[in-house]
Amino acid sequence: MVAIAISACLLGEPCRWDGQAKPSSLALSFIQAPEVSVIPFCPEVLGGLSTPRDPSELVRSDMSVCAMTRAGAHVTDAFRMGAKQALAQLKANNVVLVIAKEGSPSCGSSRIYDGSFTGQMIEGEGMSTQLFRQNGMVVVSEERIMDLFSEYCAKHADECSDVACGWDAEDFALWVQKNATIN
Ligand code: SF4
Repeated sequence: MVAIAISACLLGEPCRWDGQAKPSSLALSFIQAPEVSVIPFCPEVLGGLSTPRDPSELVRSDMSVCAMTRAGAHVTDAFRMGAKQALAQLKANNVVLVIAKEGSPSCGSSRIYDGSFTGQMIEGEGMSTQLFRQNGMVVVSEERIMDLFSEYCAKHADECSDVACGWDAEDFALWVQKNATIN
């Protein structure tokens, strides 16, 4: 049995800024796997922000990164507190892999909005993802995990006689932990 942490919105939890969820079929399929324990997390809710809420982006200056809402409120402390609380949850559950919502200022793993609230994206990671990685955790997005799943299936094709095979979610999670690159 292994533990995987997954952004709660990918599991259908309506915790996004707009009160919606972003369910991912592969993320949801881990819930059905008896050999995997799924730990949902939402750093922004853990940090005390309400749902729905004004959307936030990370705004960079020379010396620091702040989380600001579209209306101009500073929510950096809430983001930091949520990231720390999520990390504590992940550590307490000995999580081996984190699947996190791409593009989010908290959960993004390879790209985020650029802080201008104009829809422009840049390379970067969310505040929680950064903290998780600083603590040695492997974080991949819901997009990257799909690519890795295809790669994993191709490598194990000879052991798999059926497209709808009973894939081994625990083996896959441990394989991703060993083989995932930074994004
Ligand atoms: S903070 Fe993460 S888990 Fe929460 S809604 Fe945003 S992307 Fe989803």
